[in-house]
Amino acid sequence: MTNREWYERACRSLVGGVNSPVRAWGAVGGTPRFFLRGRGAVLEDAEGREVLDYVCSWGPLILGHACPEVVRAVGEAAGRSTSFGAPCPGEVELAEAVKRRFPSIEKIRFVSSGTEATMTALRLMRGVTGREWIVKFAGNYHGHSDSLLVAAGSGALTFGVPTSPGIPASVAEKTLVLPYNDPEAAEDLFARLGKDIAGVVVEPWAGNMGLVPPAPGFLETLRDLTARHGALLAFDEVITGFRVPEGGVQQRIGLTPDLTCLGKVVGGGMPVGALGGGAELMDRLAPLGPVYQAGTLSGNPVSMACGLATLEVLERPGTYETLEARGRQLEEGLSDAARSAGLPLSVTRLGSVLGLFFSPRVPASLEEVKATRGDLYPAFFHGMMDRGHAFAPSAFEALFVSSAHTEEQIASTVRGAAEVFRTLAP
Ligand code: PLP
Repeated sequence: MTNREWYERACRSLVGGVNSPVRAWGAVGGTPRFFLRGRGAVLEDAEGREVLDYVCSWGPLILGHACPEVVRAVGEAAGRSTSFGAPCPGEVELAEAVKRRFPSIEKIRFVSSGTEATMTALRLMRGVTGREWIVKFAGNYHGHSDSLLVAAGSGALTFGVPTSPGIPASVAEKTLVLPYNDPEAAEDLFARLGKDIAGVVVEPWAGNMGLVPPAPGFLETLRDLTARHGALLAFDEVITGFRVPEGGVQQRIGLTPDLTCLGKVVGGGMPVGALGGGAELMDRLAPLGPVYQAGTLSGNPVSMACGLATLEVLERPGTYETLEARGRQLEEGLSDAARSAGLPLSVTRLGSVLGLFFSPRVPASLEEVKATRGDLYPAFFHGMMDRGHAFAPSAFEALFVSSAHTEEQIASTVRGAAEVFRTLAP
């Protein structure tokens, strides 16, 4: 069957033919490809066409597709049982592996998605402080829970407006949305409402509006304000966690949040999220504390084995050096290619995660991201896909390099981009 035939068949049974909206290619147009298999950095679609993958399942596949050690661990775990619904050694081992990387984490609760990790963080922040208001930042994405699916409002003190019908206004209005990288706005908000704010949740590098680095002092201000006002600070490192050799952005910049949300790489491609923090705080969750949280498949043995094998391979000498080298090669290659084509392009990078902006400057906030030439993206996307290079089917998504990407593969992507950039240049 062709991709189109699969898509038409899918649309008869799945909402919009997909199980997560962006996969429907609505932002770029065309028929989504259906993939049959992946190996390393290469994906094969239903028509037998191969593409180099820079989505990597939106981040989890830091070792590429079907890494042999990971596949073996998953197979062995599944052979013992696909689910116990009871404690198993794998969840202890993965928790220990995460703790070795993140000094701020003493205790962990595993869940099945990043959404659940941030949702649990909110419940804990509210439950512990006895306060209701949460602060998030415009352009940061923390999954689709009611309290966090709240769009940017205009101005620093805008009360949350739900992004989707179905979110009660009474829930959304407890979420205060501030501009990213604007420490003064945060100071102003805390000066007025600090005693009612349970916590702040932030992507320490914003990975859902392209990839936007934190401005100097921004995260430090959040740490300082939350500490002074008795609120909690949660870093959402669902994208950034394990993408740098240190324990997340937090360790790289030397800031300790109260809570850390993880997902993606920690499960190596299986459905895993995690919330971690100091023991005293985390012990307020059930069964030790009163803040309830649970999950039938939490700590699932197959998922834990997948995450553990991924972290083990990742920690082998040389893996992060490879990730850094490939990330840098792509960053420099794309930048040079755009410059030669006379196309304004800014590339941001954190290890093996990159952001592309059709703009001469790196944007610092959602407003600035929106002002870049995102309208060029669909033509870029299709130009690259036609040449065998799969980027995210939506502008302003991060792109991901895995340790399986070879130097030659990245060089071929850069050559493809050079051709496409020439067609886009003014
Ligand atoms: N937090 C961040 C920073 C994310 O990028 C995402 C998903 O992309 C989530 C949370 C939600 O994770 P999930 O899609 O696993 O629910």
